[in-house]
Amino acid sequence: MIALRDVSTANPAPGCATAPVLRERGQREVFCGLTGIIWLHRKIQDAFFLVVGSRTCAHLIQSAAGVMIFAEPRFATAIIGERDLAGLADANEELDRVVGQLLSRRPEIKLLFLVGSCPSEVIKLDLSRAAARLSRTYAPQVRVLNYSGSGIETTFTQGEDACLAALVPELPPLAADAPRSLLVVGALADVVEDQLQRAFDELGVGPVRFFPPRRAADLPAVGPGTRMLLAQPFLADTARALEERGARRLPAPFPLGAEGTAAWLGAAATEWGIGAERLAAVTFPRSERACRGLARYRSELAGKRVFLFPDSQLEIPIARFLARELGMVLTEVGTPYLHREHLAQELALLPNDVVLSEGQDVERQLDRCRAANPDLVVCGLGLANPLEAEGYTTKWSIELVFTPIQGFEQAADLAELFARPLVRRARLVA
Ligand code: SF4
Repeated sequence: MIALRDVSTANPAPGCATAPVLRERGQREVFCGLTGIIWLHRKIQDAFFLVVGSRTCAHLIQSAAGVMIFAEPRFATAIIGERDLAGLADANEELDRVVGQLLSRRPEIKLLFLVGSCPSEVIKLDLSRAAARLSRTYAPQVRVLNYSGSGIETTFTQGEDACLAALVPELPPLAADAPRSLLVVGALADVVEDQLQRAFDELGVGPVRFFPPRRAADLPAVGPGTRMLLAQPFLADTARALEERGARRLPAPFPLGAEGTAAWLGAAATEWGIGAERLAAVTFPRSERACRGLARYRSELAGKRVFLFPDSQLEIPIARFLARELGMVLTEVGTPYLHREHLAQELALLPNDVVLSEGQDVERQLDRCRAANPDLVVCGLGLANPLEAEGYTTKWSIELVFTPIQGFEQAADLAELFARPLVRRARLVA
């Protein structure tokens, strides 16, 4: 059983919170923000994501989405060919034509995102003006928004951050005299949302709203009475936009593993003035079940050495879970960006001697990985195959956003994600 500690305070214990971080600004190996469309289109059920991009973007989306062509998909790519600046009027006309065709064929679409990409011919297009123009044409039936999924500056999870940040101005204001409410921010699988909602209900925390909502018409209101809990660690822009609307973030670790979930719920309970006894009554039985589920993976993973390459921005909470709940040894924990404020409670829980790196210089990091010779490497798809060929066992970090992993009930599934490649490797060797 893992001891539940109060780690939800605004001033976390030092841990490695002040530890030096190796900062690298070299070549990176990451997917672009378009990838977020794959899980966001499942979440907001009446939204459509129209990528304005090249054939490369279309291929990425198609192959990342896998099997999906049997039903009407809710994403597509408008392929913009080479155009000089003089041809931009045509490009806008073409975009308007494609959108018109799409919306007349698909009346169920209530929210349309124009998603920018990085080809130069797309960068020249002003998609925010296009979205405003199209919104005027199709309001009030359809809201048209835009964000960038470009691969120039982003890691793949920043696509969700950009998408949600674009939605924030659309949220209605929370009435000044409305009761305090909790906003859970970050796309979660519906089943996870339902489980967390039940836990909040038992605690007496509420009303609770989730952002993004399942339907475009259910946008939650936001204002000074809003308290927000981040469900994902990669939502810096969204959190800032919500804070500008008056919301206050509750500092907490992320709801990964039994310990993280208990502390995350505990942060809301503290804000709502819920006593320790009630919190324990709600979280202990769930935590105990989660820890029973984790036990078998702990016996497989304890003592194994893991190296995390920067990819999903989930690396730090995942490292905390792997070290504290499964007894794994952290050789290096890389993250594309280190948001010290949002991750303060997580950093406080990492071992004091952990090696943290931010950004990437891929060749140098690969050298460090080889020197560390870990049992398991968590990395992006681009590095996984070459490392497997060198004899390393890898786990694709993208699975962490495609799989429901948050909450007590998913703790064992999260552990299994890391145990599975080691078991497979052991079988192959045998
Ligand atoms: S947005 Fe850029 S990085 Fe992403 S698929 Fe399109 S061309 Fe490639």
